[in-house]
Amino acid sequence: MTSPNSSNVPLLKVENLGKSFGGVKAVDGISFELHAGELLALIGPNGAGKSTTFNMVNGQLKADQGSILFDGHELVGQKPRAIWRKGVGRTFQIAETFASLTVAENVQMALLSHDGKLFSMWRRAAEHKREEALALLDQVGMKSQADRPCSVLAYGDVKRVELAIAMANSPKLLLMDEPTAGMAPKERNSLMALTKDLVIQRGLAVLFTEHSMDVVFAYADRMIVLARGRLIAQGKPLEIRDHPKVQEVYFGSGKTFEKKAEAVGEAA
Ligand code: ADP
Ligand code: MG
Repeated sequence: MTSPNSSNVPLLKVENLGKSFGGVKAVDGISFELHAGELLALIGPNGAGKSTTFNMVNGQLKADQGSILFDGHELVGQKPRAIWRKGVGRTFQIAETFASLTVAENVQMALLSHDGKLFSMWRRAAEHKREEALALLDQVGMKSQADRPCSVLAYGDVKRVELAIAMANSPKLLLMDEPTAGMAPKERNSLMALTKDLVIQRGLAVLFTEHSMDVVFAYADRMIVLARGRLIAQGKPLEIRDHPKVQEVYFGSGKTFEKKAEAVGEAA
């Protein structure tokens, strides 16, 4: 890979990161690294602190302690938009109001937004960025549906469009909090395979949460495991599977790793 971050310097370096809500330490001094071209899964039971971690990285929550170094910049204390501009993207659900727009128009909006154009200019700028939008849609396998309204798409296809939208500002790091929630197993695999392609082709770094252990084991390069705000294990999927602390968290009720994880997923 020719990315400047393909060296041993991590793209993201999180150190001693923490956040409390009242008396609850939602994230309790966690440290981890993420390199360009790496798909890192963040797993753990409900309430473990996964979303809180995501929201500190994207700037929606301010950390109480610690450091988030991204591409040479300290992100703690920066506003979400400034962080986004530095190349930290995240997937969003397509808002109700935009569902009536076509697939291509939704991606064009995202491209214009990256250029700093106002949404009020949108109607006049409708032809702008169409080619760029179509190129992005091609990458996620949605070019043939470019002129359909988002409201009529199958659920898995909406998720592909959301991925194209997230890629519109060419992020170096993409955050995906439960990207496959509510999807059938086949759709989950398809979305993650697509994400993996982006990781390989663009040297994108991805941090994602996922309840299906099948998906995590199939696609993650590495995983980190949170429990009650603490990072209890990290490593390659097969190392994690046999890790005693992880087994304690997931085997607690006597279920198998997979069944327990599925149950957590259904409860979410
Ligand atoms: P996960 O995403 O792993 O399920 P969260 O990060 O959402 O976990 O939550 C971690 C802990 O922090 C939980 O105990 C949760 O109740 C608490 N928490 C999360 N967000 C808030 C908030 N905005 N206000 C109060 N408590 C919160
Ligand atoms: Mg969460």
